[in-house]
Amino acid sequence: MKKFAVFGNPIAQSLSPTIHQMFAEQVGETISYEKILAPVDGFVGAAKAFLAQEGAVGCNVTMPFKLDAFNLAKVDDQAAKDAQAVNTLMNSINGEVLGYNTDGVGLVNDLLNSGVEIEGKRVLLIGAGGAARGVISPLLKAGAASLTIANRTKAKADEVATAASNPKVQVVALEDIASVAPHIIINSTAASLSNELPCSLEDGVLQHCEVVYDMVYKNSPTRFMRDAAELGVKTQIDGLGMLVEQAAEAFYIWTQKRPDTSDIVKRVRVIVEQGEKR
Ligand code: NDP
Repeated sequence: MKKFAVFGNPIAQSLSPTIHQMFAEQVGETISYEKILAPVDGFVGAAKAFLAQEGAVGCNVTMPFKLDAFNLAKVDDQAAKDAQAVNTLMNSINGEVLGYNTDGVGLVNDLLNSGVEIEGKRVLLIGAGGAARGVISPLLKAGAASLTIANRTKAKADEVATAASNPKVQVVALEDIASVAPHIIINSTAASLSNELPCSLEDGVLQHCEVVYDMVYKNSPTRFMRDAAELGVKTQIDGLGMLVEQAAEAFYIWTQKRPDTSDIVKRVRVIVEQGEKR
C-alpha cells in the first residue's frame, strides 16, 4: 500500500487525511495517510524516518515546518524556490527527497474555479508569512497586473518583496492600502483565527474591490468576509477550496492522477460546517 502523511505542530485539526482518502477512493488507489505531530525542533528526523519506510511515497508539510522541509529537500520546483518553502515532499526513484510548493497553485485554481479573473487585476496581499510567500509567483504567472504586500510588521513585507525581486511586487503600509485601489484582496494572515481584521476595510479601501479572499476557513464566513460583504464587495471566498486544490496538486505530483475536486470541496465543506473533528 502507498503510504502518505502530513507533518505539523499542531496537527490534530488537519483535514488532509480525509481529503486524500477521498481523492484515492475517486481514482481507485488504496492508500494510508496519517497525521504526524513532530516536535518543533524534530521535523527533519521525523520526516526522514517516515520517508524511509517501505511503501512511503511522500508527505505534506504544514506550519511550522515549511522552511525546514525546503532545507531538507532537493528543490527544482520554481514555486517552492520562489517561496523558500515546501509543503509537499516526495521520494524520487533515485533515492532523493524532492520538495514542491502547491499552495500557490491551490489558491490560483480555487480563484479560477470560483470564476475570478486574475489577469490584469491589482492584487493586495495582506500578510507576509509562509502562506503569502507561496502565492506571489503563481498569482503573477496567472497575470496579476500588480501585487502589493501589506503586513502588520512592515519589515517582513519588505523582506518578502525583496526576495520576490519583480517590479510588479510592491509594499505598502497597512494604513495606506487604499492607495493601491485593489481589485482583489487576499488575506493571508492568521487574524481571522482570532476573529480579528488584519486591516481596516473602510476609507475607500474597497472602492474598486471585486473579490476578497480569506485563506482561513471556518464553519461560517470570517469577520473579514462578512465586513467586506456589508461594505458592498460582491464576492467573498474562504480558504477551503485552496486547501483542497493544494492537496489535489500534491496528489497529482505523487500519483500522476488528478482528482476532480468540485464534489470533494462540497463534501469537505459539510464536514467543516458540522464542526466535526478535523
Ligand atoms: P505565518 O505564521 O507564517 O504568518 C502569519 C501572518 O499573519 C504574518 O503576516 C502575521 O503578521 C500575520 N498575523 C497574524 N496574526 C495577525 C493579526 N491578528 N493581525 C494582523 N496580522 C496578523 O503563517 P502562514 O503564512 O503559514 O499562514 C497564515 C494563515 O493562512 C494561517 O491562518 C493558515 O491557516 C492559513 N493558510 C491556509 C491555507 C489554505 O490552504 N487555506 C494554506 C496555508 C495557510 P506579522 O508578520 O506582523 O506577525
